[in-house]
Amino acid sequence: MVVTRFAPSPNGSLHLGHAYSAIVAHDIAKERGGRFLLRVEDIDGSRSLPEKAEEFREDLAWLGLEWEEVPQQSTRLEAYEEVARDLLHRGLLYPCSCTRSEIQALKPRIGPDGAIYPGTCKGRSLVMDKPIALRLDADRAMAEVGELFWEDETNGTQIADPRVFGDVVLVRKDAPASYHLAATLDDAADGVTLVTRGQDLFAMTHVHRVLQELLHLPVPTWHHHPILIGDDGEKLAKRRNSPSLANRRKAGEDGRELAGQLRAGRFPAGITLASA
Ligand code: GLU
Repeated sequence: MVVTRFAPSPNGSLHLGHAYSAIVAHDIAKERGGRFLLRVEDIDGSRSLPEKAEEFREDLAWLGLEWEEVPQQSTRLEAYEEVARDLLHRGLLYPCSCTRSEIQALKPRIGPDGAIYPGTCKGRSLVMDKPIALRLDADRAMAEVGELFWEDETNGTQIADPRVFGDVVLVRKDAPASYHLAATLDDAADGVTLVTRGQDLFAMTHVHRVLQELLHLPVPTWHHHPILIGDDGEKLAKRRNSPSLANRRKAGEDGRELAGQLRAGRFPAGITLASA
């Protein structure tokens, strides 16, 4: 049975792009007789706003969606820690204390998610005298897993290679897991069979696929849907003040009607679906 999910981070209100993403995941599950899950990804330290989770539920209900909610990430910290300890023990993680500005000063190459870490701390041993991040040694991980693929409904079969990002952080200085580790573990724990999310997160799958292999997790299929963009070509990010779903809801707009428009590909003026 197909299991899809919508996994918003409660560090701001949802906007139309999120509504579109939730509707895609919801409708695929319903059309294929499966389940649609909501997972609140709330391990973003002080940027996670607990009250947003309730707002998200109200927004989804307003859009006319039906979902099952799985545990929020903040309830799963011990599971993340245990896996991180295992990876560390296997020599797949190394400690890193570099700050963003130290990394920038080295004029790093730019990858799909910003600066590629130049590997300054690689080979360092772990001294737990201060909070420290742990990075995945991508060369070592690839040597362990060999050639890997993922099946993507929207992009076709892909070769997974996390080295496009360099050595990503799996354990943050301020949290027991980064997005990569938490989302990968949760998709497995929640029984997600089809990871539905925006094409803007496509490249993240290189990392997630390798983690699945290292951790012997079940391997889902992916569906990366096109994202909504503004007339400046930029995605509708929370920070760009796109009208939030909560504001539309509170202003009395009909959410089901809006969902119908989005399904039909009719978007408000100035908003389109990115072609790639
Ligand atoms: N929590 C992530 C976000 O809000 C989404 C993660 C995912 O769908 O894999 O961007």
